Amino acid sequence: MSSFLLKPPATTPDLTSYDLLAPQLSGGKDSAVMMAEFMEAAQAHGVTDRVVSYHASLGVLEWPAVVVDGIRYPGVSELAALQSSAFGVPVDRHVEVARTMPGPNGTPVPRSLLTEIAAYGRFPRMGSPYCRKHAKESVISSAWTPLVRNLRRDLGRPVRILKVMGLRSDEGSDRRKRAAFRRVQANGSRVVDEWLPVKEWPTTAVREWHVGAPVPYCWTYDSVPGAADWAGTSRCSCSLCVFASRRDVLLSLSRRPRLAALYAEAEQVRGDSFRADWRITDLIRHAEACGAPDPGVVCADDGPEFNALQQQVRTALKGEPRKRPELALRGVSAPCSGCAVRS
Ligand code: SF4
Repeated sequence: MSSFLLKPPATTPDLTSYDLLAPQLSGGKDSAVMMAEFMEAAQAHGVTDRVVSYHASLGVLEWPAVVVDGIRYPGVSELAALQSSAFGVPVDRHVEVARTMPGPNGTPVPRSLLTEIAAYGRFPRMGSPYCRKHAKESVISSAWTPLVRNLRRDLGRPVRILKVMGLRSDEGSDRRKRAAFRRVQANGSRVVDEWLPVKEWPTTAVREWHVGAPVPYCWTYDSVPGAADWAGTSRCSCSLCVFASRRDVLLSLSRRPRLAALYAEAEQVRGDSFRADWRITDLIRHAEACGAPDPGVVCADDGPEFNALQQQVRTALKGEPRKRPELALRGVSAPCSGCAVRS
């Protein structure tokens, strides 16, 4: 076994020791900062030619592009590509990947995370955040396989990969506990280390960095696209994230009412709730009765991609769930707990 495989990673990675440097760009505000920091380090080490950036697309579930007052604001996948090119990665070395399934004529079509939730029968939870693995980590890991196979043969040793991510401690206790640098996989084909170069960046510093940054941040962070007030959603990936705050979800469902209704449909058919403590179905009712944050912009979600998602989810809901919901409903809150959520 090679010494690289046995040696635990040092606290700061030696970028020259990797065959593939793979920043993972979500398209969110933290990805851009991470990319700036990481590419500076790659340049200092003289290894920018080993960089290939990846974006695991969540398809229709991501924030789409919107046009407001004649100005177009890019969607999440487009932002991920911009984050890559803004810091010097050639366009052909940015790879967008997505989980797929066979379409009507056998050609692969994107398989949405919501379809997986509908087929599985339960929403992801803190103790079982399977969405991240299903929609992101395993999709990117699979995308490395052809490269690993070829390089492994040429090198005669496991391929060394550095996965670089924009996770930060400020985002939650699970992120705080995660090491800034660690080995996540080691076998005869590949050795994968993970580096979080902006782990200790506070949110305020990230926002300050974005003033005058060479790449825009997603419109959903603002109350209205272009407002530059950071008064929109605090997260940006799935428009409706099972780990988002109640306010974020209320704002998101007012921005994407048709998508929220599809999540509510999955809840009602499967009997599980979007979160252990509340349902989207109830938040929609709450928004109708007590009001929701001003959306600033409302996405139509009436194109062929949304219709395909709707059909895919409804087909999955017709089947038996792979997992029966537990008694998660016991902890679900009352339909409307007052208007404090609007603050
Ligand atoms: S954005 Fe939220 S729901 Fe979507 S994959 Fe990430 S953790 Fe899961």
